[in-house]
Amino acid sequence: MQITQPSAGRVLGEIAVTVRHQPDTPLTCPSCGSAGSRYDSRPRRWRHLNTMQWKTFLTADVPRVACPKCGVKQVRIAWAEDQSRFTELFEAFAIQMLKAVRSTVQAFFWGSRRGQASIRNP
Ligand SMILES: [Zn+2]
Repeated sequence: MQITQPSAGRVLGEIAVTVRHQPDTPLTCPSCGSAGSRYDSRPRRWRHLNTMQWKTFLTADVPRVACPKCGVKQVRIAWAEDQSRFTELFEAFAIQMLKAVRSTVQAFFWGSRRGQASIRNP
């Protein structure tokens, strides 16, 4: 895979990074690991971590391999799960954010109870 020059996305405030597959790279089946020939490719787009304040997306034409045992399969990509629209780094960041929000909410309610107690028992 080759990363091309990042460019401004179609929408203001977005950056698009295009990843290109090298045509001479051997393809393997994601299910059984057998070598196979290139069948075709499908355009895909993933939300990635922001670059500064800009939303960043990865785009790629992901090859599909013709496996002699399993049929046509999309090759495995390094940065995302097979059907995900987010990169693994973005998913990890989102999970951390959700954990932080949960803690903030708990801290808010804990603080409210302490506040009520101090009002009742000054
Ligand atoms: Zn296979």
